[in-house]
Amino acid sequence: MRFIAAYPAGVLAQVRELVDAGQLAAHLDRRYPARHAVQTDRALYEFTAQIKQDYLRSAPPIHKVAYDARIDVVHHALGLHTAISRVQGSKLKAKKEIRVASLFREAPPEFLRMIVVHELAHLKESDHNKAFYRLCEFMEPQYHQLEFDTRLFLVRREIEAASPAAD
Ligand SMILES: [Zn+2]
Repeated sequence: MRFIAAYPAGVLAQVRELVDAGQLAAHLDRRYPARHAVQTDRALYEFTAQIKQDYLRSAPPIHKVAYDARIDVVHHALGLHTAISRVQGSKLKAKKEIRVASLFREAPPEFLRMIVVHELAHLKESDHNKAFYRLCEFMEPQYHQLEFDTRLFLVRREIEAASPAAD
């Protein structure tokens, strides 16, 4: 359960119980029954731009937002933010890009929002420090719960991939 390895032992034990009882999927589906409709990169850009417009107007502009199938969820479970430097005339301008692992195309809307909020907060704070998490909570008050549940969603996917359901 590498996606949640940093959580306290008591929390891990509870998750282990859910997994062992075969209840993790049901637990998540009960709490997050919906799936979002943000299917294209254009829709994802607009979804992201709206949250930025609402909460983070002063942050640098984003040039590109895209789903990316190449993101290794083990190392970048929460997306990938990059600032690509390009030479423009004599100036070096950083281009801000946000990439979201494409597995989040088929996720509850709450999880996509959490991922996007996380990546937007990185426009202002590159590290996962207190200021970073304050920004996340400013944009999404349920941020910490949603990050935990998003990690459970990844645990569930991993379990399901390892043991495909019989027909
Ligand atoms: Zn991050």
